[in-house]
Amino acid sequence: MELKIIEAKNKKQKPTGALGFGKIFTDHMFVMEYENGAWGNARIQPYAPFTLDPSVAVFHYAQAIFEGTKAYKNEKGEIRLFRPRDNFLRMNDSGDRICIPPIDVDFVLQALEKLVLLEKDWIPTENGTALYIRPSIIAVDPVLGVHASHKYIFFIILSPVGAYYAHGLEPVGLYVEKEYVRASKGGTGHHKVAGNYAASLKAGEKAIALGYDQVMWLDAKEHKYVEEVGSMNIFFVLNGKVVTPALVGSILPGITRKSVIQLFESKGIAVEERLVEIDEVMQGIESGACTEIFGTGTAAVISPVGRVGYGEREYTVCGGKMGEYSSMAYREITGIQTGKLPDPFGWVKKIGG
Ligand SMILES: *Cc1c(COP(=O)(O)O)cnc(C)c1O
Repeated sequence: MELKIIEAKNKKQKPTGALGFGKIFTDHMFVMEYENGAWGNARIQPYAPFTLDPSVAVFHYAQAIFEGTKAYKNEKGEIRLFRPRDNFLRMNDSGDRICIPPIDVDFVLQALEKLVLLEKDWIPTENGTALYIRPSIIAVDPVLGVHASHKYIFFIILSPVGAYYAHGLEPVGLYVEKEYVRASKGGTGHHKVAGNYAASLKAGEKAIALGYDQVMWLDAKEHKYVEEVGSMNIFFVLNGKVVTPALVGSILPGITRKSVIQLFESKGIAVEERLVEIDEVMQGIESGACTEIFGTGTAAVISPVGRVGYGEREYTVCGGKMGEYSSMAYREITGIQTGKLPDPFGWVKKIGG
């Protein structure tokens, strides 16, 4: 497929103050459209709103998927992507779950590289910052019947983002949610499907109202096993062993999660992927057997947990501080992402020479 490039005539002012997350967008975006059974009309064009008929499927039935990854630039001007192919492979898995046709992974990878290079002056270089990359696919058949759309728009937008933690890595507080659930087996929780996130908002607001930062999600059937934290995967250090919930069908298979597992195993630290009962965790926190908890995801990379609220009680984890496993994972993974450390796993794609 051909890739057209239409350059923006008027470039925006680059931001000078705090970036925050996902509030500022660059001058260009990548767009392609699916129609008559094929993807086409691929172009990099000026960033602009879409004009959509009010009847399009995505507005009514949330037939939409997305991804999230980052580009990093260091002081030498080198640009790196972290495992971007895995994002587009996962996007095709998500698409399959809700009847969205697959994309050509090699083609969109090339398009992404061209887009990021065109926008390279937007990539921040300060510690902890990056250019966040958001690919999405939305269903745009202007028809109200509940069936898979015949038309789609794939787009990639870019947003310079600040350090996730403004004051260094601050441990977060989690509220164990026993009423609302994020995902059930057989549902869409294993995939980055847009509707999952609307379904999670209520519990997120409840956790914040109770003085916590994120939700600790339990399984939908028995409310017995820990699944994820907010929109991150979760790890525990229990009796000196690193443990993470097994991917049982309602857990998002995070790229950061699998990178942490690979990293730990390369250092001889075994990671147990298994069912983790919330009772085991809470008793472990009380007895001192659970010495660390942390979340993993593209946005924060590693998010240490300092407090857990369970019913009426609040428990402190790791003295409210960041533990040694979380610190090591954060240092090594961000080091590989930014090029401060060598990349023995071949995770990084350097672009632009
Ligand atoms: C995106 C996401 C993650 C983390 O995945 P990464 O590939 O590591 O960014 C975890 N859980 C949920 C629900 C997610 O949406």
